[in-house]
Amino acid sequence: MRQKMAKPTKYIFVTGGVTSSLGKGIISASLAKLLQARGYHVTIQKLDPYINVDPGTLNPYEHGECYVTEDGAETDLDLGHYERFLGVPTSQANNITTGRIYQTVIDKERRGDYLGKTVQVIPHITDEIKRRIKLLGSRYKYDFVITEIGGTVGDIESLPYIESVRQLKWEMGDTNSLVIHLTLVPFLAASGELKTKHTQHSVKVLLENGIQPNILVLRTEHELGDELRKKVALFCNVDYSAVIQSIDVSTIYEVPILMQKEKLDVTVLKKLGMSYEVQPDLSPWKKFLKRLQHPKCEVKIGLIGKYVELPDAYISITESFKHAGAVNNCHVNLILIHSEDIDESNYQNILRDLNGILVAPGFGDRGIEGKILAAKYARENNTPFLGICLGLQCAVIEFARHKLGLKKAHSTEMEMKTPHPVIDLMEDQKAVTEKGGTMRLGSYSCLLKESTKAYKAYGVKEITERHRHRYEFNDRYQKSFEKAGMIASGINPDNGLVEIMEISSHKWYVGVQFHPEYRSNVLNPHPLFIDFIKASIS
Ligand code: GLN
Repeated sequence: MRQKMAKPTKYIFVTGGVTSSLGKGIISASLAKLLQARGYHVTIQKLDPYINVDPGTLNPYEHGECYVTEDGAETDLDLGHYERFLGVPTSQANNITTGRIYQTVIDKERRGDYLGKTVQVIPHITDEIKRRIKLLGSRYKYDFVITEIGGTVGDIESLPYIESVRQLKWEMGDTNSLVIHLTLVPFLAASGELKTKHTQHSVKVLLENGIQPNILVLRTEHELGDELRKKVALFCNVDYSAVIQSIDVSTIYEVPILMQKEKLDVTVLKKLGMSYEVQPDLSPWKKFLKRLQHPKCEVKIGLIGKYVELPDAYISITESFKHAGAVNNCHVNLILIHSEDIDESNYQNILRDLNGILVAPGFGDRGIEGKILAAKYARENNTPFLGICLGLQCAVIEFARHKLGLKKAHSTEMEMKTPHPVIDLMEDQKAVTEKGGTMRLGSYSCLLKESTKAYKAYGVKEITERHRHRYEFNDRYQKSFEKAGMIASGINPDNGLVEIMEISSHKWYVGVQFHPEYRSNVLNPHPLFIDFIKASIS
């Protein structure tokens, strides 16, 4: 940890207006990247207005993927973007929900900490929000804390967050804090015009709540002209130089470069009284971007999952393929295939054209037989295969059924009374009844067996990877699996849990109980994804 710095941590708040899904997370991550590339220490935090304590209990159809941090927090998927851009781990402190805030305040009330006071949204809820925002800066680890406020200004549920930002801005002053507001400038095709009225109204809503934004980032499909920028500056009381264009691009990884061109970082640094003379060093980033945008080959990889209608449900996997594809100078054409669409009659046809097959994580039995068939196809046809979490479990079930002759083999998650529970509930999960935050979560270490595909990929003996599961490979069956050619190539050294299974005689067939996708980032692509793609190319 760094020594106490002379300068206090600066706080940057990012709010959104007009509509959701404008990409506040990507703008926050891009700004953080630019500041980091100038040598500053930055972290990003997301405040979510929903009442779930964390997104771990949410169906992926609701909010997309649930991301998992090193310390085992189940978080919003934006934290994945933060880590992929910055290459710095986040933690529980980086994602806060209204549910968690209320839970803390109500626990305090029950303990009697409020000494008979009436507990209210202001100041008690806002104080707790402010405490959690300042906590990240209080350790003197960061020059900047960027706090992204989820939702859209004007929503009832984000009001306490907006009010907390107002209070903090007042307490910290203009040289220690600023607000960036992201809005949309729609294009009216009929009149061929970009319209700013929504932005003006959205800034008015912020002003009604006592906040004058310092910088406006405008999402647009077309270049904003000078006149339009001047108009927005005038109507919204911001400097002309603080009206930033965020035009649509083909990849999110271009956004830091665009924001640099728009001088978002320089504007922020000037406003906060920080030095901005040294240019950010983005050369490794640009090298990645060049490889991503100019691939020399293409592979077709099928992602077999049951949430494919909402691609955000697999966002970390999708991004891992981009990082590792670039290393291989290869475009990964990822085909999302619904596991419920695969059956005995069609699986050969559906999977025939693929160069590689990934069976995705998941819960419950919907679509499970389709996933098992995909694992079977990959095994029988020497098609490179990566199974992640439930994907590994499907590979194990398939192998038991068709190579060990245990026709009714299953996971007890799907079939409580299976005579061959090759995947079974972990011992310490048996007494667990609560659903929230009770899985095996976060980083655990794993020892790799030498001369295995896993060891070859990582090139080291001991690794750590992040987990999110309740079931495990049942090691009663380990000997018979290994005899038949599927070996345990990674084991947790502390409790003996099997973490990786692979088929030695296969071109590349690896299943992992952990989630490698949570650890892949732009400048450090994940070794398993790199080798999986390599095998799929050849
Ligand atoms: N449902 C399985 C388990 O709990 C797999 C979980 C996952 O794929 N993340 O063990």
